[in-house]
Amino acid sequence: MSAERTFSIIKPDAVAAGQAGQILAMIQEAGFKILAMRMTRLTEAQAREFYGVHSARPFFGGLVKFMTEGPIVVMALERENAIKGLREVMGATNPANAAEGTVRKRFAADIERNCIHGSDAPETAGQELRFFFSGADLL
Ligand code: ATP
Ligand code: MG
Repeated sequence: MSAERTFSIIKPDAVAAGQAGQILAMIQEAGFKILAMRMTRLTEAQAREFYGVHSARPFFGGLVKFMTEGPIVVMALERENAIKGLREVMGATNPANAAEGTVRKRFAADIERNCIHGSDAPETAGQELRFFFSGADLL
């Protein structure tokens, strides 16, 4: 098996609550290598583009507002089976349905303010990594 890359965001709720370090530790304990990482803040235009697939959904406006409310931590991660594996570490979108020991079960408030993003497929992982990182960051 070969290493796969995925993209993750520690969302504004978790950064503001001082949970970024604990979430990062959970990611590393699950065997991920951090290839690149930085703290940043999304503009409204960036948030609308990043979550563009959800632009017709009723929660889109709230999601954009949430994702721009404060700093986030963006990460390029590598592991075997990274995309599926990170989604397991994250837990279900709605923390009420998230398994014990997952990031969202431990820290998320509700289906919107759910602490962490992870790419959902190889194509989106590639797009999202390029959205935030240059090729030189990912060598
Ligand atoms: P993410 O893409 O952030 O990793 P996900 O893949 O688990 O999360 P998506 O269906 O892609 O879930 O939704 C993207 C984000 O939009 C969710 O993480 C959450 O912040 C927000 N969201 C999704 N569904 C709802 C909803 N019904 N009400 C409010 N916010 C929602
Ligand atoms: Mg998603």
